[in-house]
Amino acid sequence: MSVYRLLFVCFASVIVVGAGADPLPATRDAGKKTQAAAEDPSITFNSVHVDGPYIAMTFDDGPSATLTPKLLDLLAAHHIKATFFVIGENVAEHSEIVARAAREGHEIANHSWSHPNLGKMSGDSVRSQLQRTDDAIQNATGKRPTLMRPPYGSITAREKRWIHDEFGYQIILWDVDPYDWKRPGPAVVRNRILKETQPGSIVLSHDIHPGTIEAMPSTFDALEAKGFKFVTVSELIRMAVPRASPSSPPPGANAPMQAVPSPSPSPSLAPSPPSSPRD
Ligand SMILES: [Zn+2]
Repeated sequence: MSVYRLLFVCFASVIVVGAGADPLPATRDAGKKTQAAAEDPSITFNSVHVDGPYIAMTFDDGPSATLTPKLLDLLAAHHIKATFFVIGENVAEHSEIVARAAREGHEIANHSWSHPNLGKMSGDSVRSQLQRTDDAIQNATGKRPTLMRPPYGSITAREKRWIHDEFGYQIILWDVDPYDWKRPGPAVVRNRILKETQPGSIVLSHDIHPGTIEAMPSTFDALEAKGFKFVTVSELIRMAVPRASPSSPPPGANAPMQAVPSPSPSPSLAPSPPSSPRD
């Protein structure tokens, strides 16, 4: 038992050290995409494998008294549903903005009470950060959240497990990061998002930076022009389809693996083997 424990401590330290190989930036949600994301794919998501051009825009660290309402206007004009990973203490301060976002069909999710580094905290402190925010969201919207995102993407494998068990949350990271918290200017934010986004992407940005909000009109236009469709993170997860297994292409097939079959009206009636569902 003690050996186990020791092993775990080592493992956890490796994760934390890995995450901190370069120091956590002073600003929010910097960079690190994920740590130890592989252990349970049904709990942790960086992106979702979907069969269609669906993506989820996510906005962290709000609500902001001035910027979040602007963003909500913009999302409404584009008929886009987004997901907001909110800070509990901001929810307490501006619960009417969170209520509006929920009313307009956006998903509200837990991003801790005060944005600490959860990967370095005691279980009780993490629990309190999440519970207080869960309660604030419930008070503002009448609904409890089902997703959480750890500040800075920092969370241990063990925390993921018990948070999932206790709160029922799925842990949401991201695969597209425009580093908007560095305030590189709206054009850069837009171009980074456009370059990296693909079907199933979870796009990270922050509704507390003016440049991010300025970037969004042309970002939404350009993503729409590429054919992307916007859903909430929970909707995206519900669309998940299994990834193609690397084995057994259909006999005789030498088409590229990622060829997407056009939607044919019905399965072939030819007596084909009951093999290989696409993915
Ligand atoms: Zn954050």
